[in-house]
Amino acid sequence: MLINDFFIEKIWFIWYNNNMLKSILNLPIFEILNKDIYNPSHAYLFYGEDELFNIEFAKVFIASIFCGKPACFQCESCRRIELNRNPDLLIIDKSNLQVADIESIIENIQLKPMIYDYKIVFITNAEGINDSAQNKLLKTLEEPNPHVIFVLTCTNFDKLLPTIKSRLNKHYLPTINLDLIANDLKLQGINIDKFSHCDITLTDAIKYSSTDNNELIYTIEHCMYNLKSSKDIPQIVGNLKIAPEQRKEFLKLLLKMTDCSLTGKVWIFDPKLIEYIRSMYSLKVLIKMMKLIDKAYNMVESNVNFNYVMDKLFYDILKEKYLCK
Ligand SMILES: [Zn+2]
Repeated sequence: MLINDFFIEKIWFIWYNNNMLKSILNLPIFEILNKDIYNPSHAYLFYGEDELFNIEFAKVFIASIFCGKPACFQCESCRRIELNRNPDLLIIDKSNLQVADIESIIENIQLKPMIYDYKIVFITNAEGINDSAQNKLLKTLEEPNPHVIFVLTCTNFDKLLPTIKSRLNKHYLPTINLDLIANDLKLQGINIDKFSHCDITLTDAIKYSSTDNNELIYTIEHCMYNLKSSKDIPQIVGNLKIAPEQRKEFLKLLLKMTDCSLTGKVWIFDPKLIEYIRSMYSLKVLIKMMKLIDKAYNMVESNVNFNYVMDKLFYDILKEKYLCK
């Protein structure tokens, strides 16, 4: 399975599809956390063998508290987290924390949050907090400030003092094995192996594994391979069997295919199709094509007759192709 850059994706996926994956992961944690984001406790610890995963998981949890719902990663609040520009989030990622560091944290949390209801202190690699600093931290945890939430992550649970641990909501995060996820999906009839050549996210792989979307991709291939001269257009358009609610998605995919052809990416398409489009249409035509598809999309949105829109689109694409020759 070759799906790049899906660390955050992986967590997304688990967060949103936890019902689906509970069978293999067996994590009651999602139920707890889904409730906690609306009414958080004052201190959490996420621990497990994979610190990167602990951190990403904690980040999604933190983003959700600020977002006020399972993090959407679209609103201003979520964007602030992604850009590291949330004044109420204090991220401490030093490898070993001394008493002085804890003191400066304590000083900082005396100030009220600037934007949100809470200030969150996020300490990663918490096993690096030395014992005296842990004792200092303990005092704060014992007298929680209602505006402050501590979120800690660590791999070595035993390095934390029992007194500290007793003050934290502890959640163990197992290492997530991607093959396990792929297998679990397969059991549910979703085969993501066919995307093994693609540079796409797991979410997209799942989305485009659905039969409806598959159908759209085949339709695009069919249209593009058959579009050679204007004589072909009536038959191509006549054969288009796309449900009204799928038409915009179809045009979006067509746009994406054009974009891929421009940049040489494959995404979810057959590499042969992209190669074919690149050999048939110059870059200049592809750029024009994107504008034409965009126009067609707007027409569909304004309820212009779909067959008319597609007829015009294919005709205009061919016209551009011949004009550029
Ligand atoms: Zn959000």
